[in-house]
Parts: sequence; structure tokens; C-alpha cells
Amino acid sequence: MEEGIFQKIIRGAIPCHKIFEDEHTFAFLDIAPVTPGHTLVVPKTRFENIFDIPEGEWLALMKTVHFLAPRIHEALGAAGMNIGMNNGPAAGQAVPHAHVHIMPRFSGDGLALWHGRAYAEGEAEEVAGNIRKTIGG
Ligand code: 5GP
Repeated sequence: MEEGIFQKIIRGAIPCHKIFEDEHTFAFLDIAPVTPGHTLVVPKTRFENIFDIPEGEWLALMKTVHFLAPRIHEALGAAGMNIGMNNGPAAGQAVPHAHVHIMPRFSGDGLALWHGRAYAEGEAEEVAGNIRKTIGG
């Protein structure tokens, strides 16, 4: 597979504003932040997204997110924080190297991330049933 943009960033071939790295993960500022401090946390080994990342790599990623989130929050004097991940093009994933977005929030920043809607009659039971069937619950 051809080297991806985040792999180039990790090895220093493309510059970035690095925040943190450990054995398994690397964190840097997003080049087009939704708010100042918007940070991407990626596994050093390239996996595409949540559907192919092994559990150990995922836990390492979550450990770094858990370490960084409160520190970024404090450093920027943020009022809150969204943490998200886009998985697959249909979900808005543009870079096919798994990454978690840490997005500090500030009062009045005007971001609206998603809009919910009510389930139709009987729809929630069907959806929950399908999920439980798949996971054997
Ligand atoms: P996705 O849409 O795949 O969840 O998010 C990809 C993110 O990577 C976007 O927010 C985009 O701004 C960021 N990004 C893309 N290319 C670069 C780059 O070369 N450097 C940095 N720092 N961020 C990038």
C-alpha cells in the first residue's frame, strides 16, 4: 500500500505541530481546525478505521486520547470538548488512516455537530433487535 499522509507526518516527511507521541500513537494539530487546539490522535501503524484496528491498538489510542483530552482542555481554557471519529467515506472520513478528533469547545463557538430526529413507531425496537442479534445479545 502506498504511504499515506499521516504516515508521512509521523516520520517527519511532512511538517506538523506535534503534541505528543508514545510507542503506539502520535498526536498533532489538525491543519484545518474546527476550533483552536483541534487535535488528531493516530496509531503509528496504519489501520483504516474502527473496523480493522485491533483491540490492543485501539486501547493504546484511547489511552492517549484519555491522557490528552483533559490537558488540552486545561491548556486552552476550553469550556467543553467533543471527541469523535469518522469511519468510512459515508461518515465523512477523508484520510484512510484511523484517527480520533479531539475538538475543544468554547462558549459561543457556533459549532453544531449533528441534529437528531425521533424514531418512527416501532423503528427503535427493530434497530436495537438487529444490533442485539448481530452481537449475540
Ligand atoms: P477525517 O475527515 O478523515 O475524519 O479527518 C481528516 C482530518 O485530517 C481533517 O480534519 C483534515 O483537516 C486533517 N488533515 C488532512 N491533511 C492534513 C495534513 O496534511 N496535516 C494535518 N495536520 N492535518 C491534515
